[in-house]
Amino acid sequence: MRRRKQYVHDNCPRCNAPLEHLVHILTCPHPEVRTIISDLLIKLEAWFAQEDTYPSLTPILIASIRSWLLDPYGDEPAFLWPSPLLCEAIITQQQVGWYAFLMGFIANPIVSLQNSYYKSIDSKKKGTTWATRLIIKSWNLVYHLWTHRNSVLHETQALDALSGVTTLRNSIIAEYALGQDSLHRVYSRYFSVRLETLLQKHMDQLKQWFLVIRSGREAIHVSMTDPFTTNATLRNWIGLPPIHT
Ligand SMILES: [Zn+2]
Repeated sequence: MRRRKQYVHDNCPRCNAPLEHLVHILTCPHPEVRTIISDLLIKLEAWFAQEDTYPSLTPILIASIRSWLLDPYGDEPAFLWPSPLLCEAIITQQQVGWYAFLMGFIANPIVSLQNSYYKSIDSKKKGTTWATRLIIKSWNLVYHLWTHRNSVLHETQALDALSGVTTLRNSIIAEYALGQDSLHRVYSRYFSVRLETLLQKHMDQLKQWFLVIRSGREAIHVSMTDPFTTNATLRNWIGLPPIHT
């Protein structure tokens, strides 16, 4: 018989949103992420200036990317279009999407527009070179947000080796002392093992034991108050659902 996987968690390690995917990694509402995004967009704006980007194009691109990062499922920002060509180019990109833009799909009319601008200012630069460099800039932006998420995830996992272990052991001792109490009898086998034996078990088994008992108590609202009651990182580490306040 194959045992069902009961606790599969791929929550965001930063804000604990369920079902983490790349769109979320880029648009996570966590305050640290928002700060990183602001910094990255300031740098991108500076890069646009440095590369002699068509001046009317820059604010529209920045505002569109910012708007997508803030709310990927929201509406496109409203613009006063400086020219019909620019409007057309941006609408083409909107159809491809800003996620695609960040992944390196820059709509051709934008590249043509940039190329025409270079010509108009007698620059020897090419729109295609600009686009290639912009793709690298976009990948860097994605990479930064991805790396940040990984560092937070690593910190969460590092709890295993740090304070989390002691906190977990203390909470297990307290849960054990409380005993089966008002829990259903199906839980009795969890208390049949001696506490000393239980505490010597592998970390994964300790977490599993605690998850079962704590979820059971929370389900019938008789949970005790300890760091696992309020600390979102600790709850995420164990696999307890986020606290609803
Ligand atoms: Zn998040």
